[in-house]
Amino acid sequence: MIQRDISVAALAEALTGGDRAALGRAITLVESRKEEDKARASLLVDHILPQTGKSVRIGITGVPGVGKSTFIESFGMYLLSQGKKLAVLAIDPSSSITRGSILGDKTRMEQLSVQSNAFIRPSASGGSLGGVTYKTYESVLLCEAAGFDVVLIETVGVGQSETEVSHLCDFFLLLMLAGAGDELQGIKRGIMELADGIAITKADSGNEVKADMAKMEYKRALHFLPASESGWIPEVKTVSSTERKGITEIWEMITRFERHQQAKGFFAKRRNDQQIFTFHRLLQEELKNRFFREESIRQKMTLMEQSILKGTISPYSALKQMLS
Ligand code: GDP
Repeated sequence: MIQRDISVAALAEALTGGDRAALGRAITLVESRKEEDKARASLLVDHILPQTGKSVRIGITGVPGVGKSTFIESFGMYLLSQGKKLAVLAIDPSSSITRGSILGDKTRMEQLSVQSNAFIRPSASGGSLGGVTYKTYESVLLCEAAGFDVVLIETVGVGQSETEVSHLCDFFLLLMLAGAGDELQGIKRGIMELADGIAITKADSGNEVKADMAKMEYKRALHFLPASESGWIPEVKTVSSTERKGITEIWEMITRFERHQQAKGFFAKRRNDQQIFTFHRLLQEELKNRFFREESIRQKMTLMEQSILKGTISPYSALKQMLS
């Protein structure tokens, strides 16, 4: 719950001073759906805006079981050992459907979660995709203002949220399993196109050869995808999170990518795109909310639904009449 007596300025000050509880409260505030909280949230974000933008924003996705949390634990511990401060925002698109949680139910990232330089925050999507996105973007900004220099945005690759997340990060990492047979089976082509890097997980315990073969397959597959605007060719790595092999290489790939993007002027461009993407999502969300809140609209919708079910009007004509 947001305490009414905490002023936005005081919250901003605590947050930028590195108070993690304040960061937690701030994220709760931006995630709130209450109108009065929304106003305070935008005040807060405006307040901290000058202190944002300094982190590397990394999106991570992959199907359940691919090893996301284990990877983030190992990768996170490595980053901390390099003197970094890491925030993990875990978005769970399942929670709105099942009311359970793919990401939140298990004990995740046990080691990382007790580190003073790590901050882990699971977030339910609450049903709205646009909602996830702009709230996530605001949460990223809050983490940056709180002094975290790497922000990981994790999402399960089972819906659309991974596409959304790819628009919110500087580097989008896709985790893949080495499977038997056709390596490209079950891969959403669209997601491969969004990836800046691919990591084949669980390259250990006799699985190394299979992982290397998968790596070659993905490299070949990436070769057939259109080249990115900046000229970056996505790299494919193998990794073992449990044995902590290949972790350094992932970070090196990300820093190499960052240098490449900076040199070509694409780092700033992608940051701009993130802002405009969020703005558009906000606009869509707000217009939709306003539209459906209107009593006259709701009445008309009910009438149209009745007519559709009676067979006197098609859904298409109903739409035309609604909007006329
Ligand atoms: P998530 O659902 O994508 O977050 O996947 P988890 O990180 O929970 O991992 C799913 C399962 O794979 C767990 O039983 C992990 O112990 C196992 N796992 C994850 N990473 C590795 C790895 O690098 N090597 C091996 N052998 N197992 C792993």
